[in-house]
Amino acid sequence: MNNDQTLVCKDCSKDFIFSVRDQEFFASKNFNPPVRCSDCRAIVKQRKMEQGGDRGGYHPDRGGGGGRNRY
Ligand SMILES: [Zn+2]
Repeated sequence: MNNDQTLVCKDCSKDFIFSVRDQEFFASKNFNPPVRCSDCRAIVKQRKMEQGGDRGGYHPDRGGGGGRNRY
């Protein structure tokens, strides 16, 4: 019984295909099935890269200007 599954993306609520190949891949890695479509996964990945990891806490936009005037 090898069938593609249709899952619903938790971010954009669109259907996406969880293919047999992906299912096997995820199973072999012990991953949970994906909750996002590939588009949203790419966005999440990119956001993480822009933040430079998961540490957080540093917000260049917020305060901390000490002495330097902006405009
Ligand atoms: Zn999505």
